[in-house]
Amino acid sequence: MHTDWTRRQFLARVGIAAAAIQTLDHLDLCCALAGDARTTGKDLFELQPVADGVYAAIATTQYKVNSNAAVILTNDGVVVVDSHSKPSAARALYHEIRGMTKNPVRKVINTHFHWDHWQGNQVYAAEYPGLEIIASEGTKENLTKAEAGVGGVPFIEKQLAALPKEIEKLKDDMTRTTNADQKARLEANLQQAEAYLDELKTLKPTLPTKTLANTMTLHEQGREIQLLLLGSGHTNGDVYVYLPKEKVVATGDAVIDWMPFINDGYPEEWVQALTALEKVDFTQMILGHGEVATKEHLGFFKGYLTDLIASVKKAAAEGGTLNEMQKTIPDQLALRYERGMSKYPLGQYRDRVGLNIEMVYQKVVKKG
Ligand SMILES: [Zn+2]
Ligand SMILES: [Zn+2]
Repeated sequence: MHTDWTRRQFLARVGIAAAAIQTLDHLDLCCALAGDARTTGKDLFELQPVADGVYAAIATTQYKVNSNAAVILTNDGVVVVDSHSKPSAARALYHEIRGMTKNPVRKVINTHFHWDHWQGNQVYAAEYPGLEIIASEGTKENLTKAEAGVGGVPFIEKQLAALPKEIEKLKDDMTRTTNADQKARLEANLQQAEAYLDELKTLKPTLPTKTLANTMTLHEQGREIQLLLLGSGHTNGDVYVYLPKEKVVATGDAVIDWMPFINDGYPEEWVQALTALEKVDFTQMILGHGEVATKEHLGFFKGYLTDLIASVKKAAAEGGTLNEMQKTIPDQLALRYERGMSKYPLGQYRDRVGLNIEMVYQKVVKKG
């Protein structure tokens, strides 16, 4: 059974006082670093075949970012991994899936609780009353917890509080610029921000109906799908969706093709989880953001986290302050990582490295 409550009913039920929720500081910093609005409502995804009946839905750059999805066809249904940031995006992918098969979507898996990976759940639930929405226990908990981070039901309120100011700023920026290209870009961003605000107002938070505490296997009509729990990393509830026969894994944001977002993460455990993932037999990764990658990218991504942690620890042991670290470490690591971490307009090396250093400093050096 799916909740059919409005957001406010839901908030009342879980006992969250909307009035107590402040504006948000880090909305821009998660998965939502403002990118150029390259697309409008159409063309939200490019569906790429990864294996027979397995597709990566690669999200196009948006001002309000979307996550990638994985679409796994079985003999009698469809399994979708992640549902994007908004119902309209989920609906766009749903229509593409309908173009491929008339079989129902039977399961949606949410890799973690961040806003851009689950806010479209309601679309699939409305179309398919028997739908199962699967996530880890940690993710389900985070989806209703007041201070879990950049996702979940309370975060919807925070976004609603912050968006009008963001919209005002875009309007203000538009009046100041004389550059026609810049103006057009701001206008597109403004339209997306306004449309996103409208969607958020009527969003029906649709939570997982089934949770897992340990790794488990789904046997889906001709398809074996393993849901791997490898420990905390990007969040404390990361699920990796692994197809052993096809040698494909969908990683959520535990591996992306941008700089990692560490604010809700566990840096050292993350490296351990990725070490465990390296032992899994796969050849292709459908990432939370960015293009489909080979296993080689996992080494690069893990290398960055490992070197970042080592650099921060070393600097701290030598008595360096956070401020000093943020001045020296970005250049130290740039040779190895800047180019590979700056392939897209979003989440580039220099945009995030300072915050990454701060997060590692707080979570690894200052902990306890
Ligand atoms: Zn994301
Ligand atoms: Zn995330």
